[in-house]
Amino acid sequence: MSLAAGSIAPPMALLAELTHRCPLQCPYCSNPLELDRMAAELEADVWKRVLDQAAALGVLQVHFSGGEPLLRRDLEELVRHARSLDLYTNLITSGVTLTEARLASLIEAGLDHVQLSLQDVAAENADRIGGLKGGHRRKLDVARMIAAADLALTLNFVVHRQNVANVPEMIELAAALGARRVEIAHTQYYGWGLLNRDALLPSAEQLHVATAAVEAGQSRHAGRMVIDYVTPDYHATQPKPCMGGWARRFINITPSGRALPCHAAETIRTLRFPSVQDMPLAEIWEGSEAFNRFRGIGWMPEPCRGCPMKEEDWGGCRCQALALLGDAAATDPVCTRSPRHDAVQLALAASTAPAPEFAYRRNPR
Ligand code: SF4
Ligand code: SF4
Repeated sequence: MSLAAGSIAPPMALLAELTHRCPLQCPYCSNPLELDRMAAELEADVWKRVLDQAAALGVLQVHFSGGEPLLRRDLEELVRHARSLDLYTNLITSGVTLTEARLASLIEAGLDHVQLSLQDVAAENADRIGGLKGGHRRKLDVARMIAAADLALTLNFVVHRQNVANVPEMIELAAALGARRVEIAHTQYYGWGLLNRDALLPSAEQLHVATAAVEAGQSRHAGRMVIDYVTPDYHATQPKPCMGGWARRFINITPSGRALPCHAAETIRTLRFPSVQDMPLAEIWEGSEAFNRFRGIGWMPEPCRGCPMKEEDWGGCRCQALALLGDAAATDPVCTRSPRHDAVQLALAASTAPAPEFAYRRNPR
């Protein structure tokens, strides 16, 4: 299915995955299992051309992400270029390599916001989860440094059965560190998260306690700090509108330049994702087969096709349908209306069994 150029609303945000290299090894990392090597990473000039095309297309925000985007020496050059195009710039980082001098040069280049990830509140468990000794202490120093520089700071905690009991302390830590926003995000089960699902998936009781803690935190910190909560799909009765709908609001670019509607889309091997090295961004967004395959509602099977919720959740997540059912075009099995909801129920059974060891994410060789 191909739609005429100009008839499709532009993406709101572009996620620029500058590298897959990272000093940490989180077992829930959203990067794919097959990571791009450093030698395949796009040069700064190509990224700048992509930013030009994104701004022309109508993108408003660019999220510099990875892996660890600070490992790119040309990050300041890219931030400066994005700001010159009036794009809002956000750095998504583990923070462990950030120095005061680097922070100052990023601010000078026009960086608007930092999203810093923490793995837990106590160093021992945080370092175990992230696979980097000393990482947590370093992150706390970096959070204070960012707040002292008066740069907008969001702390991001990915939660799962091995840290979710600490949600109240995570919220208080974020407030103490001067964060303007904290995101408590349950693990999404794609890529490394799917590989480690049995070690990460919380029980229904853990989820209930965490949700109550977030609600209490939201009322305690109302007006001072925003607390966002990303709930886990598996315990829900209806899926989330994954990425706000396939190819509706976001576009991801991998380190080597493949354009995707979401982090995990490349798991759908029947689709061929175009590269920004071969095709302009507008053409990819509006005309490519991969971006149009699950856009809108025309692709939907029953029960989605006849469902009143279809333009709210857009049928859920295609990668989740593929991961759990082997069919990216099926109704997301998280939905209780799916004829295959049993696949989620089966996975949930592991959430109360003893957790297996983590399979840590490794850097590309
Ligand atoms: S989730 Fe962890 S391993 Fe993956 S990019 Fe972020 S900090 Fe690195
Ligand atoms: S049937 Fe489809 S559209 Fe309806 S709630 Fe379930 S996933 Fe959403």
